[in-house]
Amino acid sequence: MHKLCLLGATGSIGTSTLAVLREQPDRFQLTAVTAHRNVEQMRTICEEFQPEVAVMVDEQAARDLAEVLKGRATQVLSGAQAVADIAAASNSDTVMAAIVGGAGLVPTFAAVTAGKRVLLANKEALVMSGQLFIDAAASSGAQILPVDSEHNAIFQCLPAEVQQQLGHCDLSAAGIHKILLTGSGGPFRELPLAELAAQTPAAACAHPNWDMGQKISVDSATMMNKGLEYIEARWLFNCNEAQLDVVLHPQSVIHSMVSYKDGSVLAQMGQPDMRTPIAHCLSFPERIESGVAPLDFLSIGQLNFAAADSARYPCLELAMQACWQGQWATTTLNAANEVAVAAYLAGQIKFTGIASVCRAALEQIQQGNNAVALNSIAAILSLDEQARAIARERIKQVEAC
Ligand code: NAD
Ligand code: MG
Repeated sequence: MHKLCLLGATGSIGTSTLAVLREQPDRFQLTAVTAHRNVEQMRTICEEFQPEVAVMVDEQAARDLAEVLKGRATQVLSGAQAVADIAAASNSDTVMAAIVGGAGLVPTFAAVTAGKRVLLANKEALVMSGQLFIDAAASSGAQILPVDSEHNAIFQCLPAEVQQQLGHCDLSAAGIHKILLTGSGGPFRELPLAELAAQTPAAACAHPNWDMGQKISVDSATMMNKGLEYIEARWLFNCNEAQLDVVLHPQSVIHSMVSYKDGSVLAQMGQPDMRTPIAHCLSFPERIESGVAPLDFLSIGQLNFAAADSARYPCLELAMQACWQGQWATTTLNAANEVAVAAYLAGQIKFTGIASVCRAALEQIQQGNNAVALNSIAAILSLDEQARAIARERIKQVEAC
């Protein structure tokens, strides 16, 4: 019986994880859950799964949760430090890292350092900390299993010896030519370019294939999500630039592919439903029921492929460049993007302003201190804060115009 700590229990990935656990009550015990501040949702989760510990980041939310759970077995804790503590605590062997954004870095890193089996949905943590994250896993013996559907697909298409050496694998020695990261192109794939700027958050969040949290939905519309995934893939699969390509595939049936030197291409396919990669990671190397229906190829009919257009997706281009510029660039980009997406969702900047804010932060940090060694989480968080401040300043200037 695996003992699971679920970070980000109230989110989209959190909810899909709980759905898989419901299918498998004898296999997994949910020992700890964390959330930002949604008391009602957390109450329902705790009443159903009766975890030992529930953590709310927000202190008032923690007091409210403790009140409604009075008399129950679940202990309620509060604060960001408690989230990181529970991620490393001994009452779980497996941690689902499903917090959104940079807030996930410290707890996810704590789980990695504690040598857990880490189911990684929170791609931003890896984008922010890259080599540090991979090295921490190697020294603690943590097993990283990729939940992100593309990385999970790639993982499934890799030979076992590569699966066992994530972060340090040698793709070429394993006979691999390259990794093909697929992406749908989001809701604005065919929109006239001149109409992009005026797109509302509601339109950006209406993804054609996937139902996800708000931040990743906007990231999918800009394709920053694919850019963050490109960086995520670079670290997980130890790729060089020639070994990693992005391919548009609007149907989201193929979740990514591995192209081998002999001309074989292995693809993983399935419904666009996160319960599949979540179930795969939870039970790896076994296979379990996830509640997802099998694909019906006859109703799909056709699969299409295209190149991603850099004029439509400048965020993807920025991320692909940042990936090979160094840690300073990917940490900066991730931070600026998070601030820009929040500003876009709040109606402060236009859709096309997201790329401008990110570009401005990258340019300013590059001119400043890109020589600073990012060899600790404290150094990463300090650069993250600096990039966020630059992004916020830029947004103020845009608003004033
Ligand atoms: P979401 O917004 O639906 O949920 C986020 C979760 O994080 C919530 O439980 C929330 O309470 C918690 N949270 C938010 N801010 C926090 C903070 N400051 N401190 C602690 N906890 C906080 O997000 P999501 O769509 O479930 O995505 C979660 C992660 O998984 C992201 O990194 C995303 O990129 C990744 N991911 C999501 C999907 C998907 O289909 N949703 C697919 C692949 C990868
Ligand atoms: Mg993905």
